[in-house]
Amino acid sequence: MQSITALKPLLETAKNIVITTHPKPDGDAMGSSLGLYHYLLLKGHNVHVITPTDYPFFLHWLPGNGEVIVYPDQPQQSEKLIADADIIFCLDFNGLKRINGLGDVVGAAPGIKVMIDHHLEPEGFDDYRLWNAAACATAELVYDFMVQMGDKALLNKSIASCLYCGIMTDSGSFRFNSVTAHLHRVVADLIEVGADNARIHELVYDTYSESRTRFLGYCLKDKLQVFEEYRTALIALTQQDLDEYNVGSGDTEGIVNYALSINNIKFAAIIIDRAEIVKLSLRSKGEFPANEVAKKYFEGGGHHNAAGGQSQLSLEETVQKFISVLPEYKELLNV
Ligand code: 5GP
Ligand code: MN
Repeated sequence: MQSITALKPLLETAKNIVITTHPKPDGDAMGSSLGLYHYLLLKGHNVHVITPTDYPFFLHWLPGNGEVIVYPDQPQQSEKLIADADIIFCLDFNGLKRINGLGDVVGAAPGIKVMIDHHLEPEGFDDYRLWNAAACATAELVYDFMVQMGDKALLNKSIASCLYCGIMTDSGSFRFNSVTAHLHRVVADLIEVGADNARIHELVYDTYSESRTRFLGYCLKDKLQVFEEYRTALIALTQQDLDEYNVGSGDTEGIVNYALSINNIKFAAIIIDRAEIVKLSLRSKGEFPANEVAKKYFEGGGHHNAAGGQSQLSLEETVQKFISVLPEYKELLNV
């Protein structure tokens, strides 16, 4: 494993490069990938961004969105690009298991693998890495990467807009513990070269459809369960719920935060029946380790206060399992 600075000589000449990220990419996954994409294009490389799945409409404004290849839509082209790549950048994830079927394709490819990530416990598939679990966002690390490559002067409006989106979304709009003085300095640079902070916030957070807003109301009024004894709030959604409100990719994003925003609630979950699998999104306040619950019980992981996982059980069984786990954490939840 080599430090990322050892990549510098390799990037001096034009390379075939693929950038990939985790399934159901969020603002940081897409923002960091497309930020890096614009930077590497400027350096004269042949670059493609390939995502393991589609991603929400509120990220489609990102500069470069039209060039993104969604693997299930173009499997053969994706596999050829990955097999032919000199360098494969893996952003915002750190284990090949995490990226579904694309993991095998990337794992088998001969290209150099570079991981840029801020999640705990990297698996170790990479040849080069820029990894910092204390970083707020992978987009922050892409900025650091440009600086380390001696290319800060190449920052432009497209790169800055993408990186700003990643940092804004992964920092909960600059309110999490991971927000540091360094991060604010990074953001100052991004705004200086053209990132339109107010506009980007609006594009990501204020562009929902009327039915999504009504769906949020439905979740909070009819679906929210509160377990006071365990300072936990839960929203469980069936496929019928999703169908009724025509809920699309990304429409459930952020809903779990409303459950967490209740006074005295320390732990919140949204559990969604996605037909092929039941997905859990877990959030916590303060010391409570959401990622520990995800890892121990739901084949998942993530950050201390924001984690996720999955279950092969039915929705109802998964909800029962989640509830049955709470007594183990009663003390931790009540500190
Ligand atoms: P979200 O709840 O927004 O889907 O995910 C929050 C965080 O949890 C992500 O940034 C990611 O770190 C982690 N996460 C979500 N789903 C999974 C999963 O299935 N496996 C692992 N290892 N981490 C996950
Ligand atoms: Mn991230």
